[in-house]
Amino acid sequence: MSEIFTLGIDVGSTASKCIILKDGKEIVGKSLIDVGAGTSGPNRAIEAVLEDAGLKKEDMAFTLATGYGRTSLMDGIADKQMSELSCHAKGAYFLFPKVHTVIDIGGQDVKVLRVEDGVMTNFQMNDKCAAGTGRFLEMMARTLEVDIAELGPLSLKSTENIEISSMCSVFAESEVISLIAQNKETSDIAHGIHMAIAAKAISLMRRVGLEPGYMMTGGVAQNPGVVKVLEEQLKAPLFISEEPEIVGALGAALYGLEGIF
Ligand code: ADP
Repeated sequence: MSEIFTLGIDVGSTASKCIILKDGKEIVGKSLIDVGAGTSGPNRAIEAVLEDAGLKKEDMAFTLATGYGRTSLMDGIADKQMSELSCHAKGAYFLFPKVHTVIDIGGQDVKVLRVEDGVMTNFQMNDKCAAGTGRFLEMMARTLEVDIAELGPLSLKSTENIEISSMCSVFAESEVISLIAQNKETSDIAHGIHMAIAAKAISLMRRVGLEPGYMMTGGVAQNPGVVKVLEEQLKAPLFISEEPEIVGALGAALYGLEGIF
């Protein structure tokens, strides 16, 4: 039997990610372009993943789109679209079969999923405001004048606990500005910001139940400061895959295989 390739595309609010799977088992191509819905990102991510795999669009047996901007791919690019929640659960289970609880912190929303045998059984989501999201971290990094990739490593050097009491991004930004004016250490402020994000995430996680077998996905899983604080508060390790942003695209490619049959 010849090989079957499926393409999963996750059009997020801040990034576009693609995965090509061979026979639903092996990742043969991946791409990430750091612009998302409403931009050239999705098309560029498709071009990049095909190049990475050394394949053509015609070689794809099925293309499935997920993520915030997925409907834009339904005019000729994708065969089907699916909710990012189901795709996340599917991708998470493929990478970490012991998964029970997924916390996904992306650019624009925070999602918590309960997963049993690869199927989502419950979820909670905050997509109403920037509080607790990756965007919140980007805003705070800008205020602190540090690169988003530096915020996590910097916070690990913290020696003083600072509480950011407001979770509203606008008020939290004022708090950070006032802490800077008080000459507080940037590392301590960054740690306080991560504590605030973790508190928000855990309150969402409690609503689906804290069932060990924790996995973190989404771009914010690349921030070691957020990961450390979350692990401390959960008193358990978080499983994080090598590229935590591609879990939704992976799930889409897996569901793509089911779409063929
Ligand atoms: P979306 O799916 O909404 O496009 P992602 O899951 O890609 O979002 O997450 C984007 C967020 O990830 C950004 O807002 C930022 O906070 C965080 N992020 C992105 N790159 C890095 C990095 N190199 N280090 C730490 N955090 C990062």
